[in-house]
Amino acid sequence: MSEGLKCPACGSIRHYVTNSRPRETTIHRRRKCRPCGERFSTWEFTEADVPTMQTGYRSMVESMRAAAMKIVQRCDKELEEQE
Ligand SMILES: [Zn+2]
Repeated sequence: MSEGLKCPACGSIRHYVTNSRPRETTIHRRRKCRPCGERFSTWEFTEADVPTMQTGYRSMVESMRAAAMKIVQRCDKELEEQE
């Protein structure tokens, strides 16, 4: 699996695993690119878990977006209070 993965920064496939965290059905691997030193993560999981993973990712994105909106709203409020 790792042989075909490309570094998100430079596109090289010459990277290595610096840390891996196996769980019940997933493995989270920290990788480091040899040519450019970029650090990135990969997840390995069984095919049956794909919908769960996608849902998890989507909810993570939603919660990040919600958090970003809160920060923006708070900034707006602080600006109003300063005026
Ligand atoms: Zn790279």
